[in-house]
Amino acid sequence: MSTCYIPENLTEALEIRKKTHAIPLAGGTDLMVQAKNGIGVNPSFPSPVMIITNLKELRGIRVEDDGTLVIGALATSSEIAHDERVFFHIRKAASQMGAVSLRNTATIGGNIANASPKGDLPQPLILLDADLVLSSIDGERTVKVDDFITGAKKTLLRDDEIIKEIRVSPVKATHYFYHKIGTRKANAISKLSLSVLVDVEEGIIKDFRASSGASGDKVKRSREAEMILIGRAVAEIPSYVDEFTNAWNRILSPHAMPEYRRESTKRMLKDFLLKIAEGAEPGIYE
Ligand SMILES: Cc1cc2nc3c(=O)[nH]c(=O)nc-3n(C[C@H](O)[C@H](O)[C@H](O)COP(=O)(O)OP(=O)(O)OC[C@H]3O[C@@H](n4cnc5c(N)ncnc54)[C@H](O)[C@@H]3O)c2cc1C
Repeated sequence: MSTCYIPENLTEALEIRKKTHAIPLAGGTDLMVQAKNGIGVNPSFPSPVMIITNLKELRGIRVEDDGTLVIGALATSSEIAHDERVFFHIRKAASQMGAVSLRNTATIGGNIANASPKGDLPQPLILLDADLVLSSIDGERTVKVDDFITGAKKTLLRDDEIIKEIRVSPVKATHYFYHKIGTRKANAISKLSLSVLVDVEEGIIKDFRASSGASGDKVKRSREAEMILIGRAVAEIPSYVDEFTNAWNRILSPHAMPEYRRESTKRMLKDFLLKIAEGAEPGIYE
């Protein structure tokens, strides 16, 4: 039998976490699968468990006066997918996770802390340079999602900490792209996911970002490859598109992604960029 704590507020939870290092349990959609022992047998955990679903401090989605989007760690994929204030790429990724029943239970904090290379939410969060607020009884610290996830199933979470919220500053963009490929339409773990955003002002690419999920030990993003396009005129895209897609291909792990998936990624990037070069209207492309 595992010891189970059910704190009523964040302070209580952080005290328990500091004292016992109890594992936080949010939706349980990853944790219960990892701890299962077979049909009819109680799950077993390596240490005490702390059910965190009562923590109001980790709930809700809000937008602050400066436009910063704040998503509580306990926000479910359904809540995120249905909230129009959430930035496009995050909303879209949340809407394509698992099946409806899973989306009603799976939380964003759990998806990040689980740090699966195939997890859907870290990918758009890394695209948008999102921050995580980590709470401990000794205070709070803020870490970029990209730094927090250090590899497959590896994070910087200390055993006295809980993810409190995710903070995303607004990013200016004119053209958006998101695509996820799974083995089937619903309830499918990513085989490939790609987010791109482009900001074009008076024919010049002012900002360009791309991030790939399920493509290595963690989400792939390359500021170096992005710089190949930033500052170029839109009309120059056809001259640089192969240099960019080849640079992008080099950061994708051949081990995690077979050739055909890397080729699909290259093709999606190229098609999207060439559409922009041809004068595609600002908007969402999928
Ligand atoms: C059938 C099925 C389909 C799935 N499909 C997808 C899919 O399409 N895409 C996808 O990305 N994932 C998918 N998943 C995986 C899973 O649902 C997600 O990763 C989900 O977001 C995990 O959230 P949770 O609240 O259930 O986490 P939990 O299982 O409660 O916890 C997961 C991990 O995060 C830690 N944790 C949770 N909350 C916090 C917190 N606030 N602070 C610190 N640590 C915390 C836990 O200790 C644990 O280590 C699927 C799972 C199943 C079973």
